[in-house]
Amino acid sequence: MRPRIAVIGSGPAGLAFARVLHRHGHPVTVLEREPARDARPAGGTLDLHEGLGQLALEKAGLLDGFLALARPEGQAMRILDPDGTVLRDWRPGPDERANPEIDRGQLRDLLLGPLDVRWGWAVTEVVPKGGDGVLARCADGRQETFDLVIGADGAWSRVRPALSSATPRYTGVTLVETSLDEVDPATPTSPGWSATVPWPCTA
Ligand SMILES: Cc1cc2nc3c(=O)[nH]c(=O)nc-3n(C[C@H](O)[C@H](O)[C@H](O)COP(=O)(O)OP(=O)(O)OC[C@H]3O[C@@H](n4cnc5c(N)ncnc54)[C@H](O)[C@@H]3O)c2cc1C
Repeated sequence: MRPRIAVIGSGPAGLAFARVLHRHGHPVTVLEREPARDARPAGGTLDLHEGLGQLALEKAGLLDGFLALARPEGQAMRILDPDGTVLRDWRPGPDERANPEIDRGQLRDLLLGPLDVRWGWAVTEVVPKGGDGVLARCADGRQETFDLVIGADGAWSRVRPALSSATPRYTGVTLVETSLDEVDPATPTSPGWSATVPWPCTA
């Protein structure tokens, strides 16, 4: 009998891994704390790099689906100094696919596909039971034992403590991302359409 596998967390990592398992015929259940698929906006846009995120999608059999949805033009990048002088202005060619952008909602829908996701499962801890599998406990008292549990529940993982005492820590670097919608009609004199500096980092 095939092992029963649970993936905790339906972010890009958990769903990509679950789809690889599903593609190879392994029964997999995703436990996600969000109460429903569309409980909150999926967030902004994500670039997936060749050999990294794109490799994961290829392993899941979803690369063509990604490329059909992705925006190669999103790879364009302009770097300006504080007085607006353009220091770098890079525009991708039509076949450039080093790191095209995709909306997070579209990526999530692509990844979810036929997966068995249990919404509203906020896992509080996982308890290895020797040779008898791993118990996943939920905030509302539900619990279930799986043969294998994969932690994909983000920076503040409730799975990680079963393996390690490591916790996220602030690295001292804060990055901020902002963007301008409808930039041409709203701000025709603006030198660019978005500004990105890195986001808060934990390690
Ligand atoms: C502003 C910003 C821009 C970014 N841009 C890019 C980019 O362009 N390209 C890129 O590759 N990366 C980008 N990143 C990083 C990227 O978002 C993360 O690397 C990615 O989301 C990590 O995926 P994940 O699946 O590991 O975790 P997460 O996306 O954090 O997903 C974790 C999932 O687990 C669920 N969960 C959490 N705790 C529990 C629990 N106890 N029980 C059950 N479920 C739980 C959460 O609800 C969530 O669905 C960006 C990040 C930010 C903040």
